[in-house]
Amino acid sequence: MSRLLNIVDACVYYGQIQALHDVSLHVEVGEIVTLIGANGAGKSTLMMSIFGYPRLRSGQIFICDKDVTGLASHKLATMGVTLVPEGRRVFPQMTVYENLITGTARLDPAVIAKVYDTFPVLADREHQRAGTLSGGEQQMLAIGRGLMSQPKLLLLDEPSLGLAPLVIKQIFSVLNKIAQAGTTIFLVEQNANIALKFAQRGYVLVNGKIALSGSCSALMQDETVRKAYLGA
Ligand code: ATP
Repeated sequence: MSRLLNIVDACVYYGQIQALHDVSLHVEVGEIVTLIGANGAGKSTLMMSIFGYPRLRSGQIFICDKDVTGLASHKLATMGVTLVPEGRRVFPQMTVYENLITGTARLDPAVIAKVYDTFPVLADREHQRAGTLSGGEQQMLAIGRGLMSQPKLLLLDEPSLGLAPLVIKQIFSVLNKIAQAGTTIFLVEQNANIALKFAQRGYVLVNGKIALSGSCSALMQDETVRKAYLGA
């Protein structure tokens, strides 16, 4: 198996404060991997540092064995890596369609049709302003926008945040289909219950350090994980 994403000994600081301590993790082609951790553990910091901000003070990031440490985010996009950031960040005044096509260099109707096929609600709401969509629909739009670049590697930062359980279930069922269709997924989640059921392998981040890693089934059995993250 080849490594699509490989993070080696990543250290990140905000001023004097160290947010990530020698974080190493990898995602192989075709895998679904998750990084779980509590509020403030450093999950978003890691996700954003893949895209160059905040910068690593030391360590390296590789995409398909190419060193991309500090590379501009648009260059990563051309390598097939897409981030769906925490908090959705859709453009509220723009329509669903406008949100989808913003940032696409060459509009391919077949790609938009595929996104609509993946999330039919986006087709129904094509001309509606994104700000008037429900939280779940906005999350679908954020993922749909990520799919417009037909990524090899989809990075998802807390897609479940602030959503009702039923909506979370719908979104993860679609993410499953996206993975089955061949997209590799790296998911950062505070909701360990969902993340460990969805992914195959996982890492646990505690205060900016990888405390545990393994198959999700093993992590779900782990006493510390059960007590700290699964409410057992
Ligand atoms: P959450 O789930 O709440 O987003 P997280 O695991 O993603 O949490 P981060 O947002 O990465 O955690 O934050 C990790 C640590 O870095 C926290 O202590 C946070 O306060 C700090 N931090 C995050 N962003 C900044 C920033 N721009 N400047 C200074 N400190 C920051």
